[in-house]
Amino acid sequence: MKWQGRRGSGNIEDRRKSGGTRRAGGVSGLGAIVLLLVGWYFGVDVSGFIGDNGGGASTTQSTEMTPQDVQAGEFVSVTLADTEEVWADIFRRQVGQAYVPPILVLFKGSTQSACGGASAATGPFYCPPEKKAFLDTDFFTTLENRMGAGGDFAAAYVIAHEIAHHVQNELGILGQANRIRGQVDETQSNAISVRIELQADCFSGIWAQSVQSKFGSLERGDIAEAMNAAKQIGDDTLQRNAGQRVQPHIFTHGTSEQLQRWFVRGYESGDLSTCDTFSATQL
Ligand SMILES: [Zn+2]
Repeated sequence: MKWQGRRGSGNIEDRRKSGGTRRAGGVSGLGAIVLLLVGWYFGVDVSGFIGDNGGGASTTQSTEMTPQDVQAGEFVSVTLADTEEVWADIFRRQVGQAYVPPILVLFKGSTQSACGGASAATGPFYCPPEKKAFLDTDFFTTLENRMGAGGDFAAAYVIAHEIAHHVQNELGILGQANRIRGQVDETQSNAISVRIELQADCFSGIWAQSVQSKFGSLERGDIAEAMNAAKQIGDDTLQRNAGQRVQPHIFTHGTSEQLQRWFVRGYESGDLSTCDTFSATQL
């Protein structure tokens, strides 16, 4: 992915220099639990990849900015700016309303959100009431080294996926879906979550098509990197890799194959109306 030399976003809240301290008692473990209890946040499940021992302040994570941190910050900033331009355009043409972009919070170690505490173990996520996406840039290393999804476009895809949740929020989809989720049992709630996630992947596909036509930024192998990342975060793959039986009733994101297929659908159509996972009879 070609990204250097393009405009960065002004909607980054960089908490990496100021915060991220891990107090005794384990902000990280507690934070992860709170986040799960509050629910209705939309993140990538990395719990199987990052040891979160549930409360010990065992990690001595540095909050110093390394050159890699600085570059990761710049990469996120340009990718976010790309999403702003792409979605402003799509909203103008397909929705007929102005796109109000989210804030993206960069943190290191741990931080707070309206959806609860966040730690490296929670992975990137979007918090609807705050309209903010949260990302620990160390996640890119996890993605590459532990989840087997390397490549800059895999990282961009994860950012685009979280921003896609913001798009759903702006369109009123998240509010409606979450109201229903509050009234049904857990299995049904999980099924709605899957539809939300697959739609976010379809929207990510639309983003990929649009950045290519707007900036010509895709390089050979980029779509394959996104496809591979989608595969690695599929519920069936995560369960299998954790040595578990595949249990569809606890799926919250969909299978690897579904995530990939909905991404491709958005990528090929560029059209929001093709991403209606809520009326689809077959996911
Ligand atoms: Zn998601």
